Amino acid sequence: MVRKATAVNLNSQNSKALPFAGWSQPATALGIESHDHVTIFGITYGTGERQLGRCLTVGTCTGTKSLCSNPLPRTIIQYVHLCLLSKIWYLAQILPPTKEHVQQLTTVCTWFIWQDAIFCVPVSTLQLSKEQGGWALMNIVGKCKTFLYARLWSLCTKNSSITTTIMRKWNLTGPIANPPNVHSLPTGISYIRHYALDMPYVAPSGPQETMQKFKNRLYGLLLTMATTCNCTGELWIARKYPGMAWQRVWTNVHTIGLSDPIKSTCYAAIHEIIPTNERLVAIHLTTTTSCVRCGATDKQLHRLIACEEGPVIWTWTKTRIAAILRLYPKHID
Ligand SMILES: [Zn+2]
Repeated sequence: MVRKATAVNLNSQNSKALPFAGWSQPATALGIESHDHVTIFGITYGTGERQLGRCLTVGTCTGTKSLCSNPLPRTIIQYVHLCLLSKIWYLAQILPPTKEHVQQLTTVCTWFIWQDAIFCVPVSTLQLSKEQGGWALMNIVGKCKTFLYARLWSLCTKNSSITTTIMRKWNLTGPIANPPNVHSLPTGISYIRHYALDMPYVAPSGPQETMQKFKNRLYGLLLTMATTCNCTGELWIARKYPGMAWQRVWTNVHTIGLSDPIKSTCYAAIHEIIPTNERLVAIHLTTTTSCVRCGATDKQLHRLIACEEGPVIWTWTKTRIAAILRLYPKHID
């Protein structure tokens, strides 16, 4: 059966079997003994999802510690996706990480993004698209599910695969009935249950759709479902200033050609997470609201347009805005 599934000839002398998901009997059919853990490309896999999750976390945290001492890359979020989480994206095609370990991985990523920042925006905000006020940080659960579902779906389209045979037994090949019914599925294989719960809401892929487009559509849908369930659609700052054209604000931040450091400063200023003394006093991290440079009250507007080089930058900005709007600079406030 293994040879039929993988189309390779197994060398029983060098092969190891890992009992998983309720399979407790040693594999003896091909003369291969079972082990309680195996190491592949330096990653140790144990028996059961919990132990696999621990292996994922340990591997990522160790990598993060060594990478964090390097200088920050040009785009931190991109670095998190491509480097810190790359191992997870690969493994997620085989087995999904557990909920508790996704939380740990998310904590590691947000710690890396914010470093020693005192104020920051929630991870649910970071995961929004740039046009919605986030930084398009990947939702780890959503992306892991996307990889796994896309792989299962792909295997189900091949008539000769063992996955097709197993999934056909549970009526999970092709379009799945909506509302989903998972009561007949084994409780020990939770990722199949998740597949059966989520895939009824995904329109089947047509012959014109590439696998990449199918994955993008799948991820977008899973993200929408997660956002809707958690009620995290509206930003804190948007609730504070409901009359603002927020979509226009976020689009401007990301499309007018600012350098990365200035873009980050704009983002922090708009989200009001700059650690001014006025805010630090409120949480008892300092005793005075005065600016250490000029003695005035240290609030966000003071930092941006009144202190140090702020007046010079603000005067230049007003001149540019006035030129665009065809007004006198003194009318810009
Ligand atoms: Zn000042």
